[in-house]
Amino acid sequence: MSDEGTDPKDAALLRVRKFVATYVAKGKYGLYPEEAVVENVVQGLAENLVAHGRMYCPCADVEDSKSKGSAMVCPCTPHHEDIARQGYCDCALFASRDFVAEERLRKKK
Ligand code: SF4
Repeated sequence: MSDEGTDPKDAALLRVRKFVATYVAKGKYGLYPEEAVVENVVQGLAENLVAHGRMYCPCADVEDSKSKGSAMVCPCTPHHEDIARQGYCDCALFASRDFVAEERLRKKK
């Protein structure tokens, strides 16, 4: 029998990874094209989930986020605007499909 999910951090990581995979599969954004950066954000979301009960944005001040209700719970309210402006959300977890394609081309050069 697997004991996956018995540790709170493991269970949180599982939840975050599922959320991220579903959001990318069903939504209009891709993952930021740097695996290590994405993993770092995923870890941060899981840590906030364990410590604060919700997936508060890891690149924002958690206490400040808590005062804003669900606005800074991932996927945060400003991420659409941020992606439209700079190609990726402020944490660099989600990115526009165009940004991902451009980065792939740039890396090939
Ligand atoms: S900036 Fe990105 S990772 Fe952070 S909460 Fe918003 S959508 Fe999630």
